[in-house]
Amino acid sequence: MSKTIAILPGDGIGPEVTREARRVLDALDLGLTFAEAPVGGAAYHAHGHPLPEATLDLAKRADAILFGAVGDPSCDALERHLRPEQAILGLRKHLVTFANLRPARIFPGLEDASTLKPEIAGAIDLVIVRELNGDVYFGEKGQRTTDAGLREGHDLMRYDEAEVRRIAHVGFQTAAKRRGKLCSVDKANVLETSQLWRDVVIEVAAEYPNVELTHMYVDNAAMQLVRNPGGFDTIVTGNLFGDILSDQASMCVGSIGMLPSASLDAQGKGLYEPIHGSAPDIAGQGKANPCAAILSAAMMLRHSLDMAAPADRIEAAVAAALRSGVRTPDLGGGASTGAMGDAVLAAL
Ligand code: NAD
Repeated sequence: MSKTIAILPGDGIGPEVTREARRVLDALDLGLTFAEAPVGGAAYHAHGHPLPEATLDLAKRADAILFGAVGDPSCDALERHLRPEQAILGLRKHLVTFANLRPARIFPGLEDASTLKPEIAGAIDLVIVRELNGDVYFGEKGQRTTDAGLREGHDLMRYDEAEVRRIAHVGFQTAAKRRGKLCSVDKANVLETSQLWRDVVIEVAAEYPNVELTHMYVDNAAMQLVRNPGGFDTIVTGNLFGDILSDQASMCVGSIGMLPSASLDAQGKGLYEPIHGSAPDIAGQGKANPCAAILSAAMMLRHSLDMAAPADRIEAAVAAALRSGVRTPDLGGGASTGAMGDAVLAAL
């Protein structure tokens, strides 16, 4: 049966970049069915809510979701629950996407776009698998006044073994499809939560004899990511550490317009989106780099639709388009969003 893809373009450059991703998917003629629905500020203006029921229903029904970006300055004064960004939180909650995958890779020729020295940047080809539904963000939290009259805040860091086990499996499976090296990042020297994390990851490792497991404290991982990022293949880590490390890794690659991501549920269904936002400063000007959205579509084929071959083709076509010298302004070139899409299509 034909697979259904929900396309949620959203706001700002979201529709501009998802349009190019859709063109690439259409060109591959994979027999997919597409259904589009508004989300974010666009949905608020059309239907009074950033995540209308019909959009959520489509997302639940679909086999995978291709998401653009949300964020609309004209909605800044709205109550928090009506702001565009609430749509993405609502989708994550309803779809129970607990595993966030963020690949960071330097395409040949883009080494100069990184803040790192070209010879160090050139070696970056890693994926960070971040747990999304637990940790200190979701534990018991609050503020109080102590007996001494001081204001105090607290946020409980916690994971249970089932939560660690399911993200560890995603980490091992991701590493197995790559170079077979998994680095689990924690802070087991001082945190009990991390000790449990490490114990469970070691238990799960028994099921993946072909994956080489190492452990690293998060402070060292932050250092190694800028010192020797080429030493990493797949990193698995908790929500807090992953939040920080994935942003750090993405900046090592240069433009935010190059980075895709996936958020997966327990069945491998996923929401795929560029890591950038709606970029209101360049929206409507044809300046947005569509590569992150196009590469998100490739991740969708690989992780949710079991279509690794066309995913490889898309990634190779993006690399070839860049090699041919076509660049959007964020990469120092003058190509428009559509021209970049054309170059990827030509390379396909
Ligand atoms: P942003 O990612 O939208 O933009 C940051 C900078 O990067 C801007 O200068 C922008 O022009 C540039 N940029 C981003 N994507 C680009 C691309 N594809 N090509 C070329 N340049 C690109 O972040 P921001 O400015 O902090 O946020 C703008 C809005 O997006 C806010 O409303 C924010 O809440 C929202 N946002 C949404 C998401 C999401 O939908 N998942 C993520 C981040 C931010």
